[in-house]
Order: sequence, then C-alpha cells, then structure tokens
Amino acid sequence: MKIGILGAGQLARMLAEAGIPAGHEFVFLDPAESPSAARLGHHLRAPWQDADALQVLANCDRITCDFENVPAEVLALLSESVTVRPSARAFEVAQDRWIEKQQFEALGLATPAYRAVESRPELIEAVEALALPAVLKTRRMGYDGKGQFVIHQFEDLELAWQQLGGKPLILEQWVDFDHEAAITAVRSCDGDIRYYPLSTTCHRGGILRLARAGQGQSQLQQAAEHAMHKLMDELDYIGCMTLELFVVGDTLMANEFAPRAHNSAHWTIEAVPSSQFDNHLRAVCDWPLGNTALNGHALMVNFIGHMPEPERWLRIPGLHWHDYNKSARPGRKVGHATLTAPDAPTLNQRMADLQPLLDHDLRSMMQNLP
Ligand code: AMP
Repeated sequence: MKIGILGAGQLARMLAEAGIPAGHEFVFLDPAESPSAARLGHHLRAPWQDADALQVLANCDRITCDFENVPAEVLALLSESVTVRPSARAFEVAQDRWIEKQQFEALGLATPAYRAVESRPELIEAVEALALPAVLKTRRMGYDGKGQFVIHQFEDLELAWQQLGGKPLILEQWVDFDHEAAITAVRSCDGDIRYYPLSTTCHRGGILRLARAGQGQSQLQQAAEHAMHKLMDELDYIGCMTLELFVVGDTLMANEFAPRAHNSAHWTIEAVPSSQFDNHLRAVCDWPLGNTALNGHALMVNFIGHMPEPERWLRIPGLHWHDYNKSARPGRKVGHATLTAPDAPTLNQRMADLQPLLDHDLRSMMQNLP
C-alpha cells in the first residue's frame, strides 16, 4: 500500500523500515529540510496545511502519523478523502493534557490530581488545592519535558508563571512514584487488541533515557491492559498506542497516552516477533495483527544530544544499534541501542558490560532500575 505519514522523524523512519519489506511505499509530509525518514520514501517538504502536499497525501491508501502534535484539523480534512488511522479524535484528546485527564477520569482510570489554570489567581488557588510539590504544564504542545515547571515551594510560583503563563495550563499533583512504566498495545479495525509486555521506564529532565522489558509482574500487566483496553475501545482506536504510567506500590496512575509508536517500545524491534512498527502498519492496513510476545529480556538506551562511537558498544553480544541520522543538538533524541538476552541473568551480565560506556547519570539510573 502507499502510506502517507505526517512527520518524518525517527518514528516514521522505523515505520518505513518495518513496512518496506512488506511491500509498502511511503510518502512523508514534514516541514524540516532533511528529516530522519526522508531517504526511505518521498519527502514532501511543506507546512502541515499546504494544499498541494495534502492533495498528494489524499491519493495515498492510508494516512498515519509519527508525532502527536499534527494539527487535528489536518487529519480531519484528510479523512474526508483517505483512511486516516488512528482517527483525528485520538489526537484531539492526546493533544490537550486537560481533555486527556478528563478522559482518564471518565473511564475510571486513576490519574494525578489536577486543575486547569488560566491566570495567576487560578494558579494560586490550584496550588492551595493540590499542595506542593506540583508540576505546572502547558496543556498543549508539550513533549520530552518541554513546557513544564516543577513548583517545589510557594516562592517558585512567580518564576513558573513568568515561564509558562499566557497559555492554557494544567497544574498536576507531584506523584512520588516507585517507578515509571509504559504499556504499548495495538488494536485492529475489528477491535482485536494485542498487548506488549510492560516496560519499566526511566526519565531525566522529562526525557526517556532507559526502558527495560521482561521483568513483568502479572498484576501490573493486567491492570495496565485493563486501562489500555478501556481507552482504546472508547476512542475506537486503530493502530499502536502507548500509555505512560506511574507505579505506586501495586497500583497504576495514568500519566499520558501517545496515539502513535513510542520510544518506550523500541525494544520490540528486536525482542518481539511483530514490533510496534510492524503491528501499527498491520492495523492501519487492515492486516491481521502479529505476535506481541517477548522473546527473553531487553533493555533500550536512548542517545540524547549526540551518538557515541559504536565500536565498543557493538562488541557486546545482543547489542542492536540505531542511528537516526539526525544532527547532534542538546536534548535531541538522535539514536538508541537495544540490548537483548534470552534470560534475566544474561541481560544483567550484558548490562554490566555496558556500564563502563555510560556516563555517570545513566550508570546510576541503570543500577537503580527495579
Ligand atoms: P510528561 O511529559 O507529562 O510525560 O512528563 C515527563 C516526565 O516528567 C514523566 O515521565 C515523569 O518522569 C515526570 N513527571 C511528569 N508529571 C509528573 C507528576 N505529576 N509527578 C511526578 N513526575 C512527573
């Protein structure tokens, strides 16, 4: 099939890497000059609303997205002439943290306490209602920790307001979680859902750094699948989705969901028969879904800002290297590596071999992974 993707970043690139062997062709719309996926298909370099570019996309068999801040109205417009998956509605909910949290609540999913904030007095009221620490976030266009300010004490309020005020905001109670986790699942057009095993995730500065799969506790897995099932059915969702979670004791709180492939499930490329990218395309194209069972154990390490030299990394058995061919820039995701192993002791040994190649911060995060 000819598949149009809004966005040509690394997620689009990995979708194309999964789809080309299956015979698909790709057209990417992305205003960037030379985005990561460009060399794997036809790159339309134009703004999201560009009429000529949208005409080209309207002639594809399917449309999907590699990032969630695509204007929902562009998706709605495209869906008048071509099948768009997931639907514009999933994006409308995911793009606004307040609507997203209301959706979680309506489905009975636990989520951090929150208040919408539009003015200084509302911020003061919200802080009084939720208590500190709390995190102030822009309702829209936030990702990888951007558009967030953690308020530790009342004196931080003014700085928080100076940095984020003027836009619709949300104040969230700070959750003292034991760790973070994410579940990815795929839903087909006839409502079949396949779940991947939970990843344990680790963030710094709001950016995902590590994800480990294979340590699954069945009780948390079941609770995560239950939440995902409710959300996917409610949105009549088609494709892959990831739900990011805070784990507190043996309970889960929904943080946010992504209506697309997700960084916390990149290990599915090597550690699962049908990766998140393969299954997303299967769902989008009405093909039967593939096997999501984990073969052994896996750990993914993100490369943020710059790519390390691959030589020493690639000496470790089970190490898989992904360079997104993006230019180096602080805070930018430029690649990742996935370490796979048949069992936990072997993965732990391989992680120990990896330790000397990591900076201090990553090393301590890895040592503290649950
Ligand atoms: P987000 O963009 O909302 O996913 O936030 C990025 C990261 O910031 C999360 O993965 C957490 O590590 C942290 N974070 C965000 N919101 C909260 C919260 N309410 N309580 C504790 N940590 C949070």
